[in-house]
Amino acid sequence: MQNIQELSQKYLLNTYARFNIGFERGKGSTLYDTEAKDYIDFGSGIGVCSIGYGNERLAQALYHQAQNLIHTSNLYYINNQAILAQKLVHLSGYDMKVFFANSGAEANEGAIKIARKYGEVSFSQKRFKIITLRSSFHGRTIATLKANGQENFWKYFSPFPDGFVIAENLEDIYLKIDDQTCAVMLELIQGEGGIYALPKDEVQKLSQYLKEKQILLIVDEVQSGIYRSGKFLASHLYEITPDIITLAKGLGGGVPIGAVLTQHKDIFEAGDHGSTFGGNFLSTKAGIEVLDILTEQYNTIKENIQEFHKHLDILLEKFPQLFIKKVGLGLMVGLQTRDLDTQKSILDYALQERVLILRSGKNVVRFLPPLLITHQEIQEGMLRLQKACQRIIEL
Ligand code: PLP
Repeated sequence: MQNIQELSQKYLLNTYARFNIGFERGKGSTLYDTEAKDYIDFGSGIGVCSIGYGNERLAQALYHQAQNLIHTSNLYYINNQAILAQKLVHLSGYDMKVFFANSGAEANEGAIKIARKYGEVSFSQKRFKIITLRSSFHGRTIATLKANGQENFWKYFSPFPDGFVIAENLEDIYLKIDDQTCAVMLELIQGEGGIYALPKDEVQKLSQYLKEKQILLIVDEVQSGIYRSGKFLASHLYEITPDIITLAKGLGGGVPIGAVLTQHKDIFEAGDHGSTFGGNFLSTKAGIEVLDILTEQYNTIKENIQEFHKHLDILLEKFPQLFIKKVGLGLMVGLQTRDLDTQKSILDYALQERVLILRSGKNVVRFLPPLLITHQEIQEGMLRLQKACQRIIEL
């Protein structure tokens, strides 16, 4: 571990505040560190490892794919890409087409480009403004940084592209819309901004209003998508039909992939957008396998949601000194803590008790467990979390 730390400090740019720990292998929802100590994972690599670790079926599929072809470029047809697009469209239930990228931010860049082109070609006067919400998170590229409703991300990196407008809340969006607005971009459940689920009725009202005004609704499902909310898409829970949906994290089970789905099926012409790696044989094979595994085990996911919430409710009831309320939906959930210090203590003590959790916003501890976590792993992780909480209140 010392050697990894020294090498990292010497050769890696300083972008992450890392915990003093490194993992060597994983099985199911349990990770093993360099000393072979086991950790129950309630974070799944920030919502990525949707089917957990060491999945034999995914490993075999990737092994065979890698033996055959990893990459050929988008100059040629890629059968896995077409198959995965078909599966995504089918599971979405929307009449859409797909573009594949390599990450969440890149998927959002694609969505922004679709909205900008729509704003240019659909109206006599160009529309280019995109409204996003306070506390939202859409990525770390220069454009998506400006789309984030959190100014702290902007320090040092200006100037930014024009045309991003932040609304304080859903009501404020109506006031921020003008004749240059081409789209509104939302996370239905704000993942980094405190696991805040937007009110369904207000989202439905806004969605209707935007349709009437011919303004696009982009739903960023990078974190909430791929069954994390309990439905394939959080958009299904909200019973809306967005114009554009972006996906990433859980889709590849750890293999980098992003996707943009849109109803505007003819918006792009060859040359308008592209990616060298996007949708290559390997990442789209991962996507196909992950979707098949999760779809087959949808009942398990639903049972896991119930089990996980049951244990969170117990935690909430046992430790009112630490927690205020439960937030979020499905397996994208959090416990709001009394304050920032409590949030920090819980993260530290949970790690000492060998259960991995995440922070969100200023006072939420966030849980994004692998969707296929077992009940036994949930119970063990929650027991460890209770020990961590007990130690904090006894301080
Ligand atoms: N959008 C949302 C809602 C996210 O949660 C994230 C990452 O946390 C992103 C976009 C950016 O994704 P990536 O880090 O893959 O670029």
